Amino acid sequence: MKLLQKYRAPLLFLLLFEGIAVGLWLWLDNPFYLFNFSYIGGGLSLAIALYIRGFRHARLVAQLLVGGYMLVYLGLIRGENMQIEGFWYYLFLGVFEAAAIHYAVAKIAGPLFFGRGWCGYACWTAMVLDLLPYPVPAQPRRRWGWMRLATFAAALLFVALLFHLRLPNLEQVMFRSFVAGNLAYYAAGVLLAFRLKDNRAFCKYLCPVAVFLKPASYFARLRVTCDEDKCVSCGKCRQVCPMDVDMTDNRRSRANGTECILCGRCIEACPTNALKL
Ligand code: SF4
Ligand code: SF4
Ligand code: SF4
Repeated sequence: MKLLQKYRAPLLFLLLFEGIAVGLWLWLDNPFYLFNFSYIGGGLSLAIALYIRGFRHARLVAQLLVGGYMLVYLGLIRGENMQIEGFWYYLFLGVFEAAAIHYAVAKIAGPLFFGRGWCGYACWTAMVLDLLPYPVPAQPRRRWGWMRLATFAAALLFVALLFHLRLPNLEQVMFRSFVAGNLAYYAAGVLLAFRLKDNRAFCKYLCPVAVFLKPASYFARLRVTCDEDKCVSCGKCRQVCPMDVDMTDNRRSRANGTECILCGRCIEACPTNALKL
């Protein structure tokens, strides 16, 4: 019983993803969804269980298992464009598949439950950016968040243009745009990280996906909260946060509240155990 209590979070995650896997399998009559969401749920649950056991690199395990799977297997081997362009593409086609389902689960509805968990544990762009040498931003945050609206609009316009031009071999064009888009994201992410001494600068200023993630994250069920009776205002939590969140403020409108990637660093850094998820 104690064990069940200890591993409640990974078990709940596993159940949630199994529910999605079985639901989509039966609804769309496609066993791929059973495999896909079982695998993702299994990878995430394993990483959460490792985190509970105190394994320092548990989040990296999740990023490699889930992000690596989506980039290499789904993107490069199966040829499914899981980037935002792929989401628009399937939406324009009127097909609720692949990228459209991925966005609905991970980036539009999912954040109501697990906030920006996608960004902390599964994104294949951040999987690489998190390996760079600036896990904690060395400079104050800039007011550049508007730039993500430009990349968001550019992705939408790009796909609209493809449909407008009625290009042949659209699937092939989408595959090439997946490869080119990822290379561009990695290049921009690495450049920004070194320029601003901040691994997550791309997430803060340029990533178009955050336009979807932020509104639902505001209402996230899973979030870091602070026990004000235990807090001694030492500031150690804010010193280690990669996303500049004011996690000592429990209001939903707290500074950069919709940026939290649930990495847990603030919780580990708190000397009085005032923070919890
Ligand atoms: S903000 Fe964008 S690049 Fe950063 S982790 Fe989230 S989805 Fe990935
Ligand atoms: S350090 Fe805490 S508040 Fe900051 S992103 Fe990680 S979990 Fe969220
Ligand atoms: S590290 Fe803990 S005690 Fe210190 S300010 Fe943050 S929540 Fe409060």
